[in-house]
Amino acid sequence: MRAPKQSSRRAVLGGIAAGGVLAALGMHGARAAAKSAPRVVVIGGGFGGASCARLIKSEDREIAVTLIEANSTYIACPFSNSVIAGLRELKQQQFGYGRVRADGIDVIHRRVTAVDAKQRTVRLDDGKQLSYDRLVVAPGVELRFDAVPGYTEAAAEIMPHAWKAGEQTLLLRRQLEAMKDGGVVVMSAPANPFRCPPGPYERASLIAHYLKTHKPRSKLILLDAKDAFSKQKLFEEAWQALYPGMIEWVSLSFGGQVTRVEPDTRTFVTEFGSHRADVANVIPPQRAAAVASLAGVTDQTGWCPVDPVTFESTLQPGVHVLGDAIIAGGMPKSAFSANSQARVCATAVVDLLRERTPASPKLINTCYSLVAPEYGISIAGVYQPANGLLTDVPGAGGVSPLNAPKSVRAQEATFAEAWFNTITRGVFG
Ligand code: FAD
Repeated sequence: MRAPKQSSRRAVLGGIAAGGVLAALGMHGARAAAKSAPRVVVIGGGFGGASCARLIKSEDREIAVTLIEANSTYIACPFSNSVIAGLRELKQQQFGYGRVRADGIDVIHRRVTAVDAKQRTVRLDDGKQLSYDRLVVAPGVELRFDAVPGYTEAAAEIMPHAWKAGEQTLLLRRQLEAMKDGGVVVMSAPANPFRCPPGPYERASLIAHYLKTHKPRSKLILLDAKDAFSKQKLFEEAWQALYPGMIEWVSLSFGGQVTRVEPDTRTFVTEFGSHRADVANVIPPQRAAAVASLAGVTDQTGWCPVDPVTFESTLQPGVHVLGDAIIAGGMPKSAFSANSQARVCATAVVDLLRERTPASPKLINTCYSLVAPEYGISIAGVYQPANGLLTDVPGAGGVSPLNAPKSVRAQEATFAEAWFNTITRGVFG
């Protein structure tokens, strides 16, 4: 019998030696050795997922991080209301993944079609399967087309939602541009919780700005499934000062709940009557994006319960969820929140992989809204884990003052832009 080649003998000896080492280390040591180069898979390359992937890698370069994102260009929603109002171009909202890759992260532009949380595997739409030690799910929201009778994906081509930035944003802008002076824009806003609580009111404001400057005989009706909304006093103060008589907000108690839409005539039907629009914007109710339920991390509410210290799902061990998809208690669904959560989640994932105990965090959110190009307002909060949720830290945070001088509003508008530039540079730059 011929002697094995040098290389294969080395491999055999290496195997025996490794076996010996594993035996000598015992079960715990074997697990630690097997975990020396752990694998983390992140689903969703938005404000939450892309940040989390980069932060895990920067905290521990040994960890193999794979980011799976359906699209090769990310289109940011913050400031997309300015695109609708013709104040900004969509290309200013677009970001690539070159710098994420340059950090040593394996970025795969595919859609995840299945997750096996028991086997710890993820399947992609090309059939490829990836295994992980810990999975991070940050897929954002999906629009509930089942929640508003008459509203379908086809209807959204006539009555755009524009609640995911991209073609829908441009469609709504083009419709406004094509509308005659004296036209009626009708918007509908959903009940809580939903992506970006002040977003519909910022949108109403900026559309009103467009109407005031281009089609001053027009008006906007905002049908709301709520009786109160984020930064309400500040918005109402601004509407009175900047757009008197132009914006009509219809609350839930006064017939704001839309029970059906009729796309053929761009009509919103409520229990109190119908509103026929020249331009119609339906912001439907939402839930965690579909891949969250594929991963088994969604509960009956359609959102994902998590441990607020680690962002690990309370339904599936080894799977962390963050961003818009989670039940975050007092913390709103915003890019700022998703980014804060990504920091905490990344540290917790690294700690857990390295068998350390994650510390209890404090998280911050600030939401800026533009009411006009040089008129900004904001709300800020600090959150901490309590009773299994993220709750407001009493006395921390606050909102912009009422009756502030123009210079304060103008300064907040510049802060808003600076915030957008900073966060997008941090996530994608
Ligand atoms: P997303 O940013 O939606 O990222 C999720 C990613 O997951 C997407 O890129 C998606 O393609 C990917 N994905 C989903 N499913 C799969 C799958 N199966 N396989 C692969 N990839 C998948 N927030 C602020 O902080 N400030 C603002 O001023 C602000 N303004 C807004 C204005 C508007 C009009 C809107 C609509 C939102 C605004 N937001 C704002 C909210 C902000 O956009 C979201 O809160 C934020 O994008 C949430 O980040 P995320 O990472 O959870 O989800």
